[in-house]
Amino acid sequence: MKKNFRDEAWLEQSIIVLNGIGEKMLERFAKRSLLTLNDLLFHLPIRYQDKTRVVPISSLRIGDSALLTGELTQCKTHFARRAVLSCEISDGSGVVSLRFFHFNKQQVAGLTRALEQGKWLKCFGEIKRGRQSLEITHPEYRIIDQHQPIQVDETLTPIYPTTEGLSQLALRNAIGQVIEHLKSQIEPQEVQQGKACKERPCKEQVCDFLPLSIRQELQLPSLLQALIYLHAPPPDCPVFELVEGNDPYRQRLVFEELLAHQLSMKRAYQRQAQQYAYPLSLASKQSGQQQYSTQFLEQLPFKLTPAQSRVVAEIAADVSQSHPMQRLIQGDVGSGKTVVAALAALYAIENGFQAALMAPTELLAEQHRDNFQQWLEPMGLSVAWLSGKSKIKQRREALKCIADGTAQMIIGTHALFQAEVTFHHLGLVIIDEQHRFGVHQRLALLQKGQELQPNKELQLNKESQPGKAFYPHQLIMTATPIPRTLAMTAYADLDCSIIDELPPGRTPVETVVLGEQRRDDILQRVHQACLNGRQAYWVCTLIEESEVLQCQAAEQTYELLCSQLPDISIGLVHGRMKGDEKKAVMRSFKQGDILLLIATTVIEVGVDVPNASLMIIENAERLGLSQLHQLRGRVGRGSQSSACVLMYGSPLSKNGKARLMTLRETNDGFEVARKDLALRGPGEVLGTRQTGLAEMKIADIVRDQHLIPGINEVAQRIINDYPEAVDPLINRWIGKNRDYQNV
Ligand code: ADP
Ligand code: MG
Repeated sequence: MKKNFRDEAWLEQSIIVLNGIGEKMLERFAKRSLLTLNDLLFHLPIRYQDKTRVVPISSLRIGDSALLTGELTQCKTHFARRAVLSCEISDGSGVVSLRFFHFNKQQVAGLTRALEQGKWLKCFGEIKRGRQSLEITHPEYRIIDQHQPIQVDETLTPIYPTTEGLSQLALRNAIGQVIEHLKSQIEPQEVQQGKACKERPCKEQVCDFLPLSIRQELQLPSLLQALIYLHAPPPDCPVFELVEGNDPYRQRLVFEELLAHQLSMKRAYQRQAQQYAYPLSLASKQSGQQQYSTQFLEQLPFKLTPAQSRVVAEIAADVSQSHPMQRLIQGDVGSGKTVVAALAALYAIENGFQAALMAPTELLAEQHRDNFQQWLEPMGLSVAWLSGKSKIKQRREALKCIADGTAQMIIGTHALFQAEVTFHHLGLVIIDEQHRFGVHQRLALLQKGQELQPNKELQLNKESQPGKAFYPHQLIMTATPIPRTLAMTAYADLDCSIIDELPPGRTPVETVVLGEQRRDDILQRVHQACLNGRQAYWVCTLIEESEVLQCQAAEQTYELLCSQLPDISIGLVHGRMKGDEKKAVMRSFKQGDILLLIATTVIEVGVDVPNASLMIIENAERLGLSQLHQLRGRVGRGSQSSACVLMYGSPLSKNGKARLMTLRETNDGFEVARKDLALRGPGEVLGTRQTGLAEMKIADIVRDQHLIPGINEVAQRIINDYPEAVDPLINRWIGKNRDYQNV
C-alpha cells in the first residue's frame, strides 16, 4: 500500500490509499458505493473459481468451471456468419474442444497464429456439452511450457458483484490488498481464536461486534477469520458448501447480516412504539356521537368470520394504546380485509379522528371508495376522494374537506401524501397492498398525520404535553402471505395478524392449464357460460411492462371477441381509459349488464364482482405466480363453483410450466407465495418496500430461513443486554442512511 496507515480506524480510509487506485478508479468504485477500505472488506464474493488445481480432462463434469492443461492437437477456422476458431486439446486422459467466435478475420488470424498445433495450453472456463466432446467457449488461456511445473493459484478466485466499468481484476486487486494487510497485522494464532475487540484494544482490527458470549455459545468463528476465509478461501475448502452457503465461515457472516437487518427493523419498531398516538377508546361515546362501528356491523349482510373477528380484536387492543399501532394484516385474496379495515377506520372516526386509506392503483382505490361510500354515507359520514387524476375543482374541494375535517374518511392513491394535502386530525392510516409502495411513501403519509400541537379538545392522553409529536395509528394490508419465518424478517418492524380463513360458502376455484391451440374450445366454454347467465373475465397480458402495448392488446382482443361472440355483451377495461369510462364499465359488469369483461392486469387487485365465476388468462406464462393468484382471486367469490383457465403460448419454459402447475395444484395463498419465493426470490415477491432484504450482501432470506428464529432471539438479547452493539452492527451491514432505521 502507498502509505503507512494510522493504526486506528484505518478501515475508514478512502480506497485511494491502495495501489492501483487513482481518481478514475475511485469513481468506478464509488458507483458501487465502495468508498472506504471497510466497504471493500464487506464487499463479499458471490461465487468462486477454482484455479488452485488442474483437473484431468477425464474427470471434468458439465457445468463445472475448471482449470485444465493439454496439448493443442487440432485448430480449424470456419467462416460462418461469424468467424469461428475450433481447437482441440488433449491431456492424455481425454479431449476438450475450445471454441472462439470472432467478428473479424484479423482477430481470427491473430488467434490462429498464437494457437499452433503442438503447443501446450493452460486454460480455464465453463465446461459445456459440445457436439463430439466437452467444450469450452472463449476460455481464458495461456501458452505454457510443457516442461515447467504448472503454476496454479494459492486460493480460490473470488468473483465479486460488480458494475460495468469495474473489472473483477480491479476488485480482486484492491480487496486483495486489504486482506493481505489484515493477514499481516494479526498473529496466526489470533486468526484461529478470533479474539473480540472488548478483550484488547481494537488496533487496526476488524471489530467483532458480536458479543463473545453469544459467539461462543453458537460456536461461531470470529469475524476476521470469516472475512479472510471468504475473500481468499484456501484450496482445500469445500467450494460447493461455500457457494451454497453451508460453510461455517459463510454462515457466520450470513448470521451477522441477518442479525443486523433484524436489529434495524426491531429498532425502527421500537422507535415507533416510543412515539405518541391518541388512544382510540371503543367504549366511550363522544358528545352525542353514535358507535359507528356497532352500527356498521349490524348493517353488514354477513357475520365476520372468526379470523376476521380475531384480527379486529387485535386492532382494537392496539389502537387503545397511547403509542401508534404498527400492524400488518396478511390475508389471502378474498379473505375479507376491507371490512376489517373499515371497522378500524370507524374506531378512529367515532373518536373524532379522520382515517385515510391509500391504495396502489386507481382502480383499487376507486373500489375502496365505492365500498366505503356505500357503508359510511348512510351513517352521515363523509368520504373524500383524492387521486392523481382528480379534476382541479374536485381536488380543491376534497383538499378543503380534508383540511377542515368535514371529511372523516379519506381514500386515494399516492396523491394522498403529496405536499398540498393537510389533514385536519388524522388518527389512522391504512395502506392496502403495501408491497406496491416504497417505504418512503408509507413514511410520508405518517409524517403528514403527525401533530405537534395536540388538539385541546382531544387530549385524551393524560401524559400528553404540548410540543410532543403525535402519530396516527397504522394498519397495513397485504394479500401476499409469506411463510412465518420469512415474515419474521421481512416484517420485523410490524406486528402481524393473519386472516387465515375465507368467508363461508366459497367454493374453491378449479384451475385448468391449456395451450393456446385450444382457444376455440375455451371460447365455446365462455360462450356457453355467458348464455347460462354466468359472468367472466378475459385477461390479456404482455411481456413488456408497457402499459400502452398492454392496452392495445386488450383492445384488439376486445374487437376479436366481439366479432366472435356477437350475442354476448362484452366490455373492456384497461389502465389508459378515463376514470369515468372505467367506472361505467365496472358498474355495468357489477350489475350484470356486461357478461364478459376484457381486461388488462389492472383488475389484479381488489376488483370484487361476486357473480363472476369464470376467468381466462391469456399467456398466463408471462405473469408471476403471486400475480396469477391475485388475478384468480377475482373469481370464486360467490357461492357458485368457479373456474380459471390459464392459457399458455408455446413453447412453455420449464419455469413457466412450474408456475402454472403450482396454481393448478393449490388455491392456498401461503403455498403459492412459498413456491413463488423459491422461483423468483424475495426481492421480486415482496416488492419495493423490502429492497433492503433483496440487496443483502451475503444472506438470502429464502435459503437461510432456518436461521431466522434463532436470530430473532439473539437480536432481542443484544438489544436488552448489549445495546452498545446495535448501532455498530447496523451501520456495518446496512449503512447509516437507510430509511427504515431512521423512522
Ligand atoms: P380481500 O381480502 O381480498 O381484500 P375483500 O375485503 O375484498 O377481500 O372481500 C372479498 C369479498 O368477501 C367481498 O365481497 C366482501 O364483501 C366479502 N366478505 C368479507 N367478509 C365476509 C364475511 N365474513 N362473510 C361473507 N362475505 C364476506
Ligand atoms: Mg383487497
